[in-house]
Amino acid sequence: MKTIEEPARQIPIYGEYEVAVLGGGPAGIAAAVAAARAGRRTLLIERYGFLGGMGTAAGVTNFCGLHGNVYGEMHRLVQGIASDLLARIDHLDGLNKPHLIFGKILAQAYDTAAYKIAADDLLAAHNVDILFHALGAGVAMHDGERINALFVETKAGRQAIRADIFIDCSGDGDLAAWAGAPFELGDAHGHLLYPSMMFRLNGIDPEKASDAWRTIPQLMAQAEASGTRTFPRKGAIVRPQRSPIEWRVNFTQLKRRDGSAINGIVPDDLTRGEIDGRRQAADAFQFLRTVPGFEKSYIVDLPPQLGIRETRRVVGDYQLSGEDVLGCASFDDSIGVNGWPIEAHVAGDVIFKFPPIPQSRGYNELPYRMLLPEGIDNLLVAGRCASMTHEGQSAARVSGACFAMGEAAGTAASLALSGNTPPRDIAIERLQQALKDQGAFIGRDQAVPQGL
Ligand SMILES: Cc1cc2nc3c(=O)[nH]c(=O)nc-3n(C[C@H](O)[C@H](O)[C@H](O)COP(=O)(O)OP(=O)(O)OC[C@H]3O[C@@H](n4cnc5c(N)ncnc54)[C@H](O)[C@@H]3O)c2cc1C
Repeated sequence: MKTIEEPARQIPIYGEYEVAVLGGGPAGIAAAVAAARAGRRTLLIERYGFLGGMGTAAGVTNFCGLHGNVYGEMHRLVQGIASDLLARIDHLDGLNKPHLIFGKILAQAYDTAAYKIAADDLLAAHNVDILFHALGAGVAMHDGERINALFVETKAGRQAIRADIFIDCSGDGDLAAWAGAPFELGDAHGHLLYPSMMFRLNGIDPEKASDAWRTIPQLMAQAEASGTRTFPRKGAIVRPQRSPIEWRVNFTQLKRRDGSAINGIVPDDLTRGEIDGRRQAADAFQFLRTVPGFEKSYIVDLPPQLGIRETRRVVGDYQLSGEDVLGCASFDDSIGVNGWPIEAHVAGDVIFKFPPIPQSRGYNELPYRMLLPEGIDNLLVAGRCASMTHEGQSAARVSGACFAMGEAAGTAASLALSGNTPPRDIAIERLQQALKDQGAFIGRDQAVPQGL
């Protein structure tokens, strides 16, 4: 690759914080609230003008991983800050009742506008400073192990943010990678989970459509068998939103020319993925209009960006694995739980693998060590880029676990500042007690929360 030398320049310091969080998805929201609620001067930096991450920016509109199937009974396992956010979305009448998937697990749909407003309110209530429309672009280090400042590109030019502790909730591990933390991409063969372009339809006749989420996959199989259509993948998810005239469509799968998954940290891949994603959405729409109840529907929303499921997974002190998920693993340093199964978006299909249900407790614990990147002292990583294997990430990347990881990371950052130690050296019992006191469920000896 040809290069050009950038002239050295002085960068204005936007602010100096105790905790700086990069990324405003589920992990970043919870991390920033947890740190600020503990009294830390906290800044959340987000490239868009709203919060929610993939949940809003990629039109996901559905929480997975909040619940667990515990010996055949459903419980909402992820509590704490997630409960506060959910209550605020519900207050705006933007939250569905949880719905059953494969008769085995619950998910819960929400309206993106309500999520954005509720998240703004949540952060304001806890005095989190926010810097929107700021793209994290690099770091300055004190030395090999400590980050000094995060550089961001804004409409006012490049600025620097200094903090004692940084939390990477970018989903892509951007900050950790710039700081020099090791990371992995894809499975043993480099295969990433495939991205999807989500979209939503409005104008559906709910009575006629009825439970079309059951029949649509059958109609797709029939259309393919008769040779009238081909689809980018099996396992289409088409389900109603809060208002049953509006349905979300998780139907597409984006690949490179060679058939491998679009890589969400490669600009040319992203460009192709966005354009192909919209093309696939248009094709899917043409098919869906033939489904009873969908005849007068129209695409009401194509989200701001392609939905990226997996890019960098930062390597930390422990990597949560697929065996941990399927074996409902316990950890002495648990900071939260994940009740979502492995959901592998592979070429042309989506493959779910559950722990034994109803014989098992249905959830694994999440160890604190997965938030601690190797080699960097003042950095925590939370969310889909935390330390997990490809298979582990295929489960614990969903919103529920990301909220749990974020809350733990923000709380840990505050404890580290209190003790003047790196996050790696805090007393795990103190972190666990603080999380429990805040209403989080971390597994271990805690009673499983009741209700949905
Ligand atoms: C198509 C699709 C469907 C999905 N379906 C579901 C579902 O039904 N239920 C569910 O729970 N999960 C689902 N997921 C997974 C889930 O949405 C994500 O894994 C989850 O949002 C990850 O949370 P996060 O906070 O780790 O990261 P993200 O949600 O990715 O948030 C990261 C945030 O950081 C910001 N950011 C990134 N880089 C920078 C930077 N350099 N500078 C500034 N800001 C930056 C981004 O704009 C974003 O707001 C789906 C994902 C996809 C792609």
